[in-house]
Amino acid sequence: MTEVQLQEFKLEPDSELRFEVESKNEKVVLEVKSGYAELFGTELVKNKPYEFHTGAKVAVFTWHGCTVELRGRTEVSYVAKETPMVVYLNVHAALEQQRVAAEQDSTRGPVTMVVGPGDVGKSTLTRILLNYAVRMARRPIYVDLDVGQGQISVPGTIGALLVERPASIEEGFSQQAPLVYHFGHKSPDENLELYNTIVSRLAEVIAERCEHNKKASTSGVIINTCGWVKGAGYKVLTHAAQAFEVDVILVLDNERLYNELKRDMPKFVKVVYLPKSGGVVERSTSQRAEIRDSRIREYFYGKRTPYYPHSFDVKFSDLKIYKVGAPSLPDSCMPLGMRAEEALTKLVPVWASPALAHRLLAVSFSPAADELALHSNLAGFVCVTAVDSERQTMTILSPQPRPLPNTILLLSELQYMDNH
Ligand code: ATP
Repeated sequence: MTEVQLQEFKLEPDSELRFEVESKNEKVVLEVKSGYAELFGTELVKNKPYEFHTGAKVAVFTWHGCTVELRGRTEVSYVAKETPMVVYLNVHAALEQQRVAAEQDSTRGPVTMVVGPGDVGKSTLTRILLNYAVRMARRPIYVDLDVGQGQISVPGTIGALLVERPASIEEGFSQQAPLVYHFGHKSPDENLELYNTIVSRLAEVIAERCEHNKKASTSGVIINTCGWVKGAGYKVLTHAAQAFEVDVILVLDNERLYNELKRDMPKFVKVVYLPKSGGVVERSTSQRAEIRDSRIREYFYGKRTPYYPHSFDVKFSDLKIYKVGAPSLPDSCMPLGMRAEEALTKLVPVWASPALAHRLLAVSFSPAADELALHSNLAGFVCVTAVDSERQTMTILSPQPRPLPNTILLLSELQYMDNH
């Protein structure tokens, strides 16, 4: 049922208002009228209107009680008294103790990985813990290994950010100077070899950066992961835990995964089971696809702050496009001394053709098409909006004006229809 109107909610201490905006082109405005409240760990400013659009699933939590007003059409809106926020706050307090100890002993702060199946609130818990850390004047590193529903850059990548201020309510964490690596698919199982390679690379680069940034190093790292936790998905998680040398693994809502990790992780890794919030909303495959699409749209056009991308034509002959991964052959058919898996991280040239229409291309910082390209941070993304085979040109949507940098482009499986 859809409710229109102005709604006012009085929240008691330790409770939250949950609401969803579902209808197309709908806008809901939230305002705190009295008391204090926060949204996934970011404090809300009293009497300041915050806008939420179609697809938003939100919880406004209060530790001390508050009054909140909602204007617009919400699909669902209710107050919940049962939340796991006290448990999450205790986790934050324990991490904070480790940061204090790291500061005193000049060692590394806690490296924490959040794991669990799909739709249990991993991204939300990551955001809450990062916000609480930065509100205590820490500078934690946020790592997102979720190639399907990650919050850094576009889908099909993994990345990291230094968090210097709480997430903006409407736009999330500031995306200034992120480290981003190309994967090119929306699930790690499309190329496990490549996924593990870039996870190891990201971990290495972060460890190097921490050596030069003491504040970030003592603040620690919080890692969000994919919701794929069984079979090969479990191996991917344990590989990431090893690569980042994690100290803490927070397991949301899955006892089997918790027990497996307790069994398999070295003793110094603290594996902690946490309940999921009753407010976390399950998303259908089509909703997930819509979220991916809107992340790409926001990359080019901005969210609240609008961006103005450029569109221009490029000659086929001026483009160096590669895809990662040659077709897999049995070991016996490989050149001497090469493993079949190695083919999965090889760069293969792709000829410009109409099949590239609507595909994303990652702009690498690497000038050469060697394995360094996979180990290089990305400069950004462009999208092929049209292909003209007769004129041998492509129309490119790009955040930067022409020309494209003279580096290689990595083809992503992800597509975006630019009908902005
Ligand atoms: P995925 O496996 O897809 O990465 P996830 O486990 O990271 O999912 P989240 O993205 O954190 O899950 O949460 C799923 C959705 O539920 C999000 O839209 C989020 O805004 C919403 N959500 C999380 N916690 C709450 C809450 N307490 N009340 C209302 N909505 C919530």
